[in-house]
Amino acid sequence: MSKNTIKDNQAIDLHVHTTASDGSMTPEEVVKSAVDTGLSAIAITDHDTIDGFIQAKDIARTYSLELVPGIEISTKYHTNIHILGYYVNHMEPQLRYELNSIIEERDIRNRSICKLMCNDGIPADYEIMKLRFGAVIGRPHFARILIEAGRAEDVQEAFCKYLDKGQKYFLPRNLMRIERAVEVIRCSGGIPVLAHPLQYQLDDDLLQELVRHCMDWGLQGIECMYSGYLPEQTQYLIAIARRYGLLITGGSDFHGIAKPWIHLGSGCGSLFVPYSLLDQMKQRRKDIP
Ligand code: AMP
Ligand code: FE
Ligand code: FE
Ligand code: ZN
Repeated sequence: MSKNTIKDNQAIDLHVHTTASDGSMTPEEVVKSAVDTGLSAIAITDHDTIDGFIQAKDIARTYSLELVPGIEISTKYHTNIHILGYYVNHMEPQLRYELNSIIEERDIRNRSICKLMCNDGIPADYEIMKLRFGAVIGRPHFARILIEAGRAEDVQEAFCKYLDKGQKYFLPRNLMRIERAVEVIRCSGGIPVLAHPLQYQLDDDLLQELVRHCMDWGLQGIECMYSGYLPEQTQYLIAIARRYGLLITGGSDFHGIAKPWIHLGSGCGSLFVPYSLLDQMKQRRKDIP
């Protein structure tokens, strides 16, 4: 049996969040958990930052876990679409500029959410939140503040009652245009991938239109395997990826306790992402100009 065949049977997870954004496990804990779970590679794809990858690099090397640098950017199209970027170079000036802009944009929105909460007697101090949670603060962190203030039992209830669109503490973000996100990931040498395509409630025509539109800006792949996707849904997405010559990727979107039903590697229980998909991505990296 060749080395590659052995690796093909190994599971990987190309969509993982850490405390560097809205996950609940530190980058180091995620690496250890991936090793314990028997994964042979993971991509840390935090929202808007590569810091989790940087923190986890050394420990991953110690455990011989292959660690892929990644990122996830929320973008605006007709609806809010998430773009993953693999192997981005975080030192690239355009990417740094755009990521800094996202953090500034989050800060403005987050300070307003803090004001709304404080008006209702909930102790949401943004400076303290930044010290505690780091640079990338999102609604899941506000969910924790609400739980600690006794306003919600768990993250789900906090979103349902207060943070989902239309609820009291929801404020919209001013998102990056999808074209720019795909382009800036490519500019930094990264591989842009359309994240969890079935989350957007697009029919087949609109989904393919979205894929073609993103391809004009450099899209390279589609996340076809994802927590909770049925085999036929994955097959449907794989067919689209093949039709357009795009990479097939997959990952759990693990967030730890923020989404307790999702497990690292196995997603909702039946996710299996083979190592061969990462090999294909690495090959594509060499092939694209
Ligand atoms: P933000 O970008 O700050 O508006 O927050 C968006 C993040 O909130 C997403 O990345 C999800 O991780 C998380 N999120 C959204 N809805 C829910 C939900 N119902 N339960 C748990 N987490 C959620
Ligand atoms: Fe998230
Ligand atoms: Fe996402
Ligand atoms: Zn994600």
